[in-house]
Amino acid sequence: MATIGFIGLGNMGMPMAANLVRAGERVLGFDVLPGSRWASAEHGVQVVASARRSVEDADVVITMLPGSEQVLSVWKDVLPAAKSGALFIDCSTIDVASARVAHALAAERGIGSLDAPVSGGVGGAQAATLTFMVGGSPEVFARGKPVLEFMGKRIVHCGDGGNGQAAKICNNLILGASMIAVSEAFVLGEKLGLSHQALFDVASASSGQCWSLTSYCPVPGPVPASPANNGYKAGFTAALMLKDLKLAQQAAQSVGVQTALGAHAEEIYQSFVQQGHSGMDFSAIVTLVRGH
Ligand code: NAD
Repeated sequence: MATIGFIGLGNMGMPMAANLVRAGERVLGFDVLPGSRWASAEHGVQVVASARRSVEDADVVITMLPGSEQVLSVWKDVLPAAKSGALFIDCSTIDVASARVAHALAAERGIGSLDAPVSGGVGGAQAATLTFMVGGSPEVFARGKPVLEFMGKRIVHCGDGGNGQAAKICNNLILGASMIAVSEAFVLGEKLGLSHQALFDVASASSGQCWSLTSYCPVPGPVPASPANNGYKAGFTAALMLKDLKLAQQAAQSVGVQTALGAHAEEIYQSFVQQGHSGMDFSAIVTLVRGH
């Protein structure tokens, strides 16, 4: 049994930590929010009083935090408390440059590290079916993979430090743009007198098929588990989608690539968030398309 320090027990972190407990690991968890701490304790996480306390005895430290600012400040705070030979894994979605800074902070202390952002949402976190996109040396990847396998079903080594984040933002550029495209198709279909189910039955078995349609359909009915059937209560918020689209644009600019659809998707999510919908699920973008 390994001891795992887990920092950031929110929508994603809590079920991920719970899966580590289920796998028989000892999980020492910390979150700044009391509500997140209580919920995690109910799932067998041993809640400790600070981020530092969660790493002191840990073989592996996992962070699952909102953004790069929190990741870098937590890593700076806790790395000096880590035991030698510990492995640090950041599963948050952050910009590539900050991920590389985090790797450098760990390397300064002789600690192995991975950036391992995820895809699959809260449902995937609960079911331990996440995809992990991992950046780091092959040796450190080999050490981290068995731990990630307790929380996910696909663990992909994407290359050196930062490449996991590169894969994540490229994936989410596709996701943001495809969710808008699927929403536009459903709203157009509505106006043309097409039922949601008829369009779903055709597109899900045709060339329009994609995850935004078949797993996360933005209109109620065709995919019972999608947030559209639950008032668009967030799995993945519009604010987080906007964050990822901004990261993609930032990365595209840094390497001189034109991503016109990604840029437009960012504008569309920006206006949705500005209208006060940041906490809704990102698939609620269909309501903006419909003009509600
Ligand atoms: P969340 O806001 O629910 O959870 C983040 C947690 O971090 C919160 O509980 C917060 O209190 C805690 N936190 C913030 N600062 C802290 C600190 N200094 N020390 C300790 N705890 C701190 O967010 P989430 O949905 O769990 O997402 C976490 C990360 O995963 C984000 O980077 C997000 O982009 C990424 N992600 C989310 C989803 C999703 O569907 N929600 C999917 C893929 C990736």
